[in-house]
Amino acid sequence: MKKTIHWFRQDLRLFDNQALVNACEYGQVLPVYIHDPVNCGDQKLGAASEWWLHHSLESLNAALEGSLNIYTGDSASILQQLVWKYEISNITWNCCYEPWRMELDRVVSEQLEQDGVEISESNGALLWDPEEVLKRDGTPYKVFTPFYKRGCLGAMPPHKPLQKAKGLFLKDPKSVELDALNLLPTLGWDAEFYTHWKPGEAGAIQRLETFISSGLKGYKDGRNFPDRENVSRLSPHLHFGEISPHQVWYAVKRETADEDVGHFCSELGWREFSNNLLFHFPHITDHNLNPKFDAFPWEPDGKKLKAWKAGQTGIPIVDAGMRELWETGYMHNRVRMVTASFLVKNLLIHWKEGERWFRDTLVDADLANNTASWQWVAGCGADAAPYFRIFNPVTQGQKFDPDGAYIRRFVPELSELPKKYMFCPWDAPSDILKATGVELGSTYPHPIADLKKSRADALVAYASIKESGTSNG
Ligand SMILES: Cc1cc2nc3c(=O)[nH]c(=O)nc-3n(C[C@H](O)[C@H](O)[C@H](O)COP(=O)(O)OP(=O)(O)OC[C@H]3O[C@@H](n4cnc5c(N)ncnc54)[C@H](O)[C@@H]3O)c2cc1C
Repeated sequence: MKKTIHWFRQDLRLFDNQALVNACEYGQVLPVYIHDPVNCGDQKLGAASEWWLHHSLESLNAALEGSLNIYTGDSASILQQLVWKYEISNITWNCCYEPWRMELDRVVSEQLEQDGVEISESNGALLWDPEEVLKRDGTPYKVFTPFYKRGCLGAMPPHKPLQKAKGLFLKDPKSVELDALNLLPTLGWDAEFYTHWKPGEAGAIQRLETFISSGLKGYKDGRNFPDRENVSRLSPHLHFGEISPHQVWYAVKRETADEDVGHFCSELGWREFSNNLLFHFPHITDHNLNPKFDAFPWEPDGKKLKAWKAGQTGIPIVDAGMRELWETGYMHNRVRMVTASFLVKNLLIHWKEGERWFRDTLVDADLANNTASWQWVAGCGADAAPYFRIFNPVTQGQKFDPDGAYIRRFVPELSELPKKYMFCPWDAPSDILKATGVELGSTYPHPIADLKKSRADALVAYASIKESGTSNG
């Protein structure tokens, strides 16, 4: 009987896994996960993602009845040794779009083809193949609406989800224990994570069902309000491939085809868009897509960056978001936009600093979505928010957290303040501050930026690059 390796990466599931199904059809399967600190360069997983990965692998191993083979080191040489040891004839994997993984796939393919191993690649991570979603002139899209409407919805519909893969799985006695990967933190900062998340395929399916039954209705508007339960929180499950976008797409489409479903599907479309950008413009991880921004006069301010990370900026909605991130490993999309805008536009700190912090602390940290979103907020990305559109964190809070419930939850030292001052405690009269136990500069910081002045400074900084350089076309 032929022996096959299925190389798990960002497809940690048994349902709708084309590459795993292919492996099972070839013969006995050695299911392999390789933790590879050798090839990832500076795209090493962040601490929150490592936490997630540990539990996700634990769950996958249980689903495979203990047959998951785990290794750590250089993927190419580990795979080659396994090929020799088990006389492997085929290897299957689902494509990944991170530049270092694509380069690794190229190296592994070349090496294993020389050994006569047949390689089978599938697309298990995206609804549409980025090589195929192109403009009529053969170039990639840089604007979301035509990308989604023409490039995606105008193409063949995504494939229907596949049944659970069933196979004869082999265990290599040399596989290491999951704990040997040292993915869990030694300090207990992850205690809260357990109350918010259930990594793994079963957790992902459960999360999808909960969202469909209690969050999807009202999604279009409700998704903007961080205190409402209208978002799916599927992002870490999608990132690690514990559920495929196809499963999500067809599950929501089974519901009525209303504007909530349509809007939710278009958010999955943004995920496709980010991955397409990363696939066609891999340099965006380190460079502005719009090179005009290379001359932007960013501020090197360590102290303000530290305050932003710690949720101690003195701007309540920003602090609530940064503390949500630290406590739960997640931040609501509306607040991601507000906190990111505050960093790049009010503090004039480079978007890469923010991207790096999010990468370390988000359980859904995703190179494509994170990079594209930071560049979008900063104004230097594809279809980006114009630089001069600067979020006002006070009015954003008033509009999207009207009762202050989100701020009260994450910034409890302000919880007694009346709503009127919840978003701008610096405007509160001293008797109200005193009566509610708030002492600015002591129990809660003074704002680290004057919103009006910093907005004006940002516009001046932008004007300095507006006329220079080339645009992103
Ligand atoms: C500065 C910044 C950084 C971000 N970093 C990440 C990141 O590292 N990883 C990540 O997955 N998302 C990132 N996003 C996008 C978005 O905030 C999250 O995908 C979303 O908040 C996840 O929550 P959810 O699953 O409840 O979303 P839902 O609203 O339920 O959306 C469903 C799915 O659609 C996709 N999606 C939704 N919004 C976007 C978007 N704007 N761009 C791309 N895909 C989207 C996600 O896969 C999400 O799980 C970032 C956004 C900003 C502004």
